[in-house]
Amino acid sequence: EVPVPGKVSTRYDLEKETELRFEVEAVEQIELELLTGMAEVFGSELNRNKKYTFGAGAKIAVFTWQGCSVNLYGKPEVAYVSKDTPMLLYLNTHAALEQMRRQAERDNERGPRVMVVGPTDVGKSTVCRLLLSYAVRVGRRPTLVELDVGQSGVSVPGTVSALCIERPADVEEGFSVQAPLVYHFGSTTPGTNIKLYNKLTSCLAEVYSQRCEVNRKASVGGCIINTCGWVKGSGYQALVHCASAFEVDVVLVLDHERLYNELKRDLPHFVRVVLLPKSGGVVERSKECRRDTRDEKIREYFYGFRGLTFYPFSYEVRFSDVRIYKIGAPSIPDSCLPLGMSQDDTQLKLVPVTPGRDLTYHVLSVSSAEDGEEGARKGIVESPVCGFIVVTNVDTQTQVMKVLSPAPRPLPRHTLLIMDIRFMDSK
Ligand code: ADP
Repeated sequence: EVPVPGKVSTRYDLEKETELRFEVEAVEQIELELLTGMAEVFGSELNRNKKYTFGAGAKIAVFTWQGCSVNLYGKPEVAYVSKDTPMLLYLNTHAALEQMRRQAERDNERGPRVMVVGPTDVGKSTVCRLLLSYAVRVGRRPTLVELDVGQSGVSVPGTVSALCIERPADVEEGFSVQAPLVYHFGSTTPGTNIKLYNKLTSCLAEVYSQRCEVNRKASVGGCIINTCGWVKGSGYQALVHCASAFEVDVVLVLDHERLYNELKRDLPHFVRVVLLPKSGGVVERSKECRRDTRDEKIREYFYGFRGLTFYPFSYEVRFSDVRIYKIGAPSIPDSCLPLGMSQDDTQLKLVPVTPGRDLTYHVLSVSSAEDGEEGARKGIVESPVCGFIVVTNVDTQTQVMKVLSPAPRPLPRHTLLIMDIRFMDSK
């Protein structure tokens, strides 16, 4: 064993079906190495004698089916071994889904469409990652549908997206994100505009279904839908809407009996609703922690992630060259609505934004909608986005704003959608 200079190393011998859980402190880095046996991190197998690095705030479980020994280099905030994990139940869930895929293959049907629901911090994203990695490891091509606008695993916060999974998640970095389909939502909670949220869910369902019609592997692979932790009121209605838009076959409810009963009552009888326990290892995250993760996700978009460094561009954009919109007008009492107009229309309405100093630091989505006047405006809400920029400075005198962009000028399109989300570039 060659110790990493300056870092304490601790060896853990794990029995079969146990996991080592550890958390990385704010300014620390922990390295993990598999010494003997076999182990996986959230469904992705570890290679022996390779050091995996986990940065500040990471919360990791190293699970072993057969038993193994691992080394941790550095001082984790906490590290302990647990025998009590729901991994076997999760694996059985995967086996049941795989059974459905086999049957779909045989009968020329479509594979399982699975929605994962539950309150925040029950391990929804982790279960999605696990099921997707297991599926891809047995040769499937499942699709990840990300509806968690607060903590998206695919794109920047404030978006919903779909991603075709072709290889297991990278142990350190998660799923490789190439060519996801992304829609602009604009804020970190569905409640800010539930009509828009439901509309975008429908858009994703439609695009996914179209893809299934032309791509047999995508159809058989099915999809795993990650949802928001908001499970009451309109949040609950949004889950019911999603189940119907995607015509889901299976709903996995994590650690919430009432939600389980409600969905069983409200969804059609052929939908299998399954209650699963959460893992004791799932760590509750504070508001600050969530905000930091969001910030990090935006930073990653512009600057890359460890092995892959990007160099974003900064340039000026004239107000007259772009059109900036916010989706959704502030709601007004029904009695004040123009004749023939409903609240729905106001929530999906494009409201032109006059650039001013308060635009500074806002994240803007670059819509893929064709540039062009009024006629084109109609399709903007339902058009995917092709990228994001951040406004770093606004000069109202010269009518110019400075933006941070992943690509050099010019902007690929000129229709911009404003998010509530702001990003202060500290690089
Ligand atoms: P949700 O999607 O429900 O909000 P996540 O899946 O994002 O929850 O999990 C919350 C946090 O807990 C994540 O940082 C994840 O890495 C961590 N986590 C999940 N399962 C475990 C586990 N078994 N041991 C340790 N940490 C875990």
